[in-house]
Amino acid sequence: LFISFEGIDGAGKSTHINALVEAFETMGRNVVRTREPGGTPLAETLRELVLNKAMDPMTEALLVFAARRDHIVQVIQPALSQGAVVLCDRFTDSSFAYQGGGRSFDWNVLESLERWVQVQSIGSILQPDVTIWFDLPSNVAAIRLQGARVPDKFESQSEPFFDRVAQAYAKRMSSAPDRFVRVNSNQAAADVWSDIHAVLVAKGVL
Ligand code: C5P
Repeated sequence: LFISFEGIDGAGKSTHINALVEAFETMGRNVVRTREPGGTPLAETLRELVLNKAMDPMTEALLVFAARRDHIVQVIQPALSQGAVVLCDRFTDSSFAYQGGGRSFDWNVLESLERWVQVQSIGSILQPDVTIWFDLPSNVAAIRLQGARVPDKFESQSEPFFDRVAQAYAKRMSSAPDRFVRVNSNQAAADVWSDIHAVLVAKGVL
């Protein structure tokens, strides 16, 4: 079982990922909690570069997909083939949201990178079974982030940037409605959690 978590910065992913780790462990499942960009030593090194160095959008996209390739080969595929639950904080939808939406990089190029990097066998592309999208208006996210932590280069972006990110998530969701679950993050954490819980129970995974 492969679940990814998406949303703009400040949408509150980490709290709920932690709760899901517990929920699956209580069920006796082996859980691998990981993140992107990152999840392996090499990919974490690439993450540092992507988050802290200025670069053109294509370089950024290539580095994020290189990190993803390493992460898939070293961590995600082995964990899935051993039957673990993989909970991944961001996956390819973030590339569409940030590089495609935020930085207006070519959507078609991202789709071909996705096909190359996530290929498993002829005609089969690795995708999460479920993607939980924490949807939050960008002005609310901006308020939540104020003073919360030292911003990386993306977190200090403008509101229009985050609006483009949100629109890109919505576009991705419309192209994969079975995989995507939109959760309203603009409510109390306990209510966000009960929405997530209900959806995963309905999908038969919790
Ligand atoms: O969710 P987290 O805070 O770990 O994300 C790290 C940063 O990387 C975020 O600011 C996010 O906007 C950015 N990011 C990105 N492109 C990706 C994935 C994440 O710009 N493909």
